[in-house]
Amino acid sequence: MASHDPEYWVIGAGLAGALAVHRLRLAGKEVAWFDRNISQTATRTGAGIMNPITGRKFVFSWEFDGFHQEALQVYSQLESKEQPILHRLSILKGLSTPGDVNNWCMRVGSEPYSRFIQEPRPGSDFPVLQNCLAMGEISPVYRVDMQAVVDQVIERWGPPDTGEMTAVGHLKTPVGERDIPDRGKLILATGSPVEAIVGLQLPLSPYQGQALIIRTRDLPTDRIIHHKLKVVPYGDDLFWVGTFDQWEGLTESPTEQGRLRLEEELARNFSIRYTVVDQVSGIRPASRTRRPFTGSLPGHPNTYVINGLGTKGASLAPLVVRNLCDHLLHGREIWKELNLPPMT
Ligand SMILES: Cc1cc2nc3c(=O)[nH]c(=O)nc-3n(C[C@H](O)[C@H](O)[C@H](O)COP(=O)(O)OP(=O)(O)OC[C@H]3O[C@@H](n4cnc5c(N)ncnc54)[C@H](O)[C@@H]3O)c2cc1C
Repeated sequence: MASHDPEYWVIGAGLAGALAVHRLRLAGKEVAWFDRNISQTATRTGAGIMNPITGRKFVFSWEFDGFHQEALQVYSQLESKEQPILHRLSILKGLSTPGDVNNWCMRVGSEPYSRFIQEPRPGSDFPVLQNCLAMGEISPVYRVDMQAVVDQVIERWGPPDTGEMTAVGHLKTPVGERDIPDRGKLILATGSPVEAIVGLQLPLSPYQGQALIIRTRDLPTDRIIHHKLKVVPYGDDLFWVGTFDQWEGLTESPTEQGRLRLEEELARNFSIRYTVVDQVSGIRPASRTRRPFTGSLPGHPNTYVINGLGTKGASLAPLVVRNLCDHLLHGREIWKELNLPPMT
């Protein structure tokens, strides 16, 4: 490696790549950073909700406290008055069936649930919702503006260069093709396209999610409503409404079918007047185990991946990135739960 080449090369300017660049630069390392620069990324599309209680049975998220604490610390250090990252809200969860109400009530009063939920209220308290027996509230909940995290890292350390990694260590840039020096440490934070780059099957099961951005004055601005769809306040009477999910025929772009299905669901479950301002789409880098993973890539010395952030990137990314960076900078072992699982 020539003396002017940086030691670290980070590919991907989504949430994972940006946080890796931030951590390495804070440690005084020189970092080359590249992204292929497309607009429809998971980080730009996702609502960024950090929800402690998820799923149909309302279970406490895996290792929530540890991930959440690290996330709050990292995001609060990065945000500024001009560019807030953390938005403190609550989630109103629609309970549509007696079974839902029963599952919810079973959680009330027991740890750790009692830190976040109480007895449900009757659905009739929320006339804006259709087909809703009762409403449970989860509080406090944070929404993370994930793209603002990337923007703040760019503000502090400069933007990524344009470049697409076509194979491990090989970059296509607007000024030609180049290889990353062998001794450079390469971090692949490319989200779902990682398998095409490394030419290996990783334990990934990516899926596409689409959402609408609507404008309405008929919804509360301090609460997320989760009733079939998630409706998330974005400020200025704007709301993110999602999602329409697809596991087959993935494209990065929004589709007409996605828009129609989201509008149908909105009409079925919410009685509000609204206009559609935008439609967004992204592919979630979900893993088959639903756990994130990081570590060195077998057969490729000095190449590392951060992936599998799935539906919970906002909560998971800061601690996963810290694990990899502590390993690279200080030789600490990666937490075994996050270790890149064996290839299939
Ligand atoms: C509809 C939807 C809703 C979501 N809602 C939430 C939510 O409420 N809460 C939550 O926590 N998470 C949510 N997520 C998930 C969250 O967005 C992701 O977990 C997170 O953004 C993943 O970040 P990432 O950096 O791994 O990937 P990405 O955001 O996909 O970033 C990867 C980057 O790598 C670049 N790249 C890819 N390939 C190459 C290449 N070959 N060469 C160079 N650059 C490349 C891309 O351009 C991109 O900028 C949602 C996702 C979607 C799609």
